[in-house]
This record gives sequence, C-alpha cells and structure tokens, in this order.
Amino acid sequence: MNKALRKAVIAGNWKMNKTPSEAKALLNEIAPLVKDADCEVVACVPYVDLTTAVEAVKGTNIKIGAENAHWEEKGAFTGEISTGMLKEVGAEYVVLGHSERRQYFGETDETVNKRTKAVLKAGLKPIVCVGELLWERECNITEEVIARQIKLDFFDVTAEDMKNVVIAYEPVWAIGTGKTATADQAEEVCAFIRATLAKLYSQDVADGVTIQYGGSMNDANAAELLSKENVDGGLIGGASLVAEKFAAIVKAASV
Ligand code: PEP
Repeated sequence: MNKALRKAVIAGNWKMNKTPSEAKALLNEIAPLVKDADCEVVACVPYVDLTTAVEAVKGTNIKIGAENAHWEEKGAFTGEISTGMLKEVGAEYVVLGHSERRQYFGETDETVNKRTKAVLKAGLKPIVCVGELLWERECNITEEVIARQIKLDFFDVTAEDMKNVVIAYEPVWAIGTGKTATADQAEEVCAFIRATLAKLYSQDVADGVTIQYGGSMNDANAAELLSKENVDGGLIGGASLVAEKFAAIVKAASV
C-alpha cells in the first residue's frame, strides 16, 4: 500500500482555547473553506466545547474529537471524562499522549496504553502522540525513544484495532515553538514508526496506519511536509485556531 491509499487526516488540536460560543464561530468560519477537502478534517476541542462543536459541524465534512479520555468507564475519578461520555456527545476522535499531557500532567506510556485500548473499545479513533525531547535528539536516541513509545503505547492493541489508529509524530522541541522539523526529519521518523509497526504487526498493518506530523505545521510549510511518503497528515496546534491557515493546510493535504 502506498501513501495515496492511506487516509490523510488533518486534525486541529485546539488545546485550552475557545469557549463554546467561540468554538461555534470558528467552526462556522472553517466549514465553507474546507468543504471540498480530499482528506479527513478533524477539530479536537476542549470537553466543554464538544456538544456545541458537534452541532456546529452537522451537515459538513468536519469531524469532532476530544483532547483526552479516561480508561475507566465510570467511577471516582474527579475531573476525568469517559469514552462513553465522549461517544454520547458525538466525538469521533480522541488525542492521546500529547506531550503537554506527558510533561505537565504525569501522563506515562502505561496510561497512554490504557487510554488507547479504552478509546478503541468504545469505537472511537485515537490520535496517539509520540515524540522525542530536544535533549534526546541531541543524544542521538530519537529512534530508541520512539520505538519504546510505540511498543508501550500499543501494547496489546490488536492488528484489527490498528486500522482505527492514527499516530502523530510530534517532536516535543517543535510544538508551539515555531521550530518545525525539516520535511526530511519528519519523513525519517515517520518512516521509522512505520518500520517499527511492521516489526510488531506486519507490513500490511503498518502500511495502513495514518501517521501525522505535528509541530509548528502551518500554511507555509505544510505542503512540503505532506509531500513526504510517510507523512500522511498533520496534527496542528496554533495554526488550527486561524480558519484560513487551517484551511490552507487542509488544501495542501488534498492534492
Ligand atoms: C500540537 O499541539 O499538537 C501542536 C503540534 O502544536 P503547534 O502546531 O502549535 O506546534
């Protein structure tokens, strides 16, 4: 299977931005700009925006995602949100293991693995983020770090379930910093992720997984990054909050 046969996914990660009314306004702005997209268009929004966002994108080609999910179905987990809650409000995707969660909120590969399995079990699609720190890249252990994350985050995830998984390669040093990995650096690691999946599963499974690049992707650099064989889409933070910029990235993925 080659790149052309994989589903390109352009997903916005809004982080802790936009109130429900602001979310509605932004989605109303984005919708007409991406209506002819030849890729999957997703907006991952704060929990409190989900209901409004799902309503706002009705009749459009935009899908809505959450930014995290707990692995238990219910219980004494104050402040957490279950996959059942996300399903009921109409979310389809869930970002998991984002570096901000790993850095600031104690997320580990073990909890990412639990969340990934719960999200898949609920019939939602996880966008699982992996990526190395700058220090790890400088120490030449990028591949070791990524291989470890892939092995742990997908431990016990079946080949069948991998059909619903999106992986986002997000070098931590490129997130929100304005520093983008070069297209060659992004391709190198995305190809490495695919090779790791091929060893863990099979070449067929690996060839079917959508692998995004994320890290200061914008309207100016998207086309070059997305032209690479193993870069199947993008997870976009800052630029996803500006309708024209996000739409330009969607357009770059649609050629
Ligand atoms: C992200 O939050 O996943 C991200 C890639 O952010 P940014 O595009 O702002 O670097």
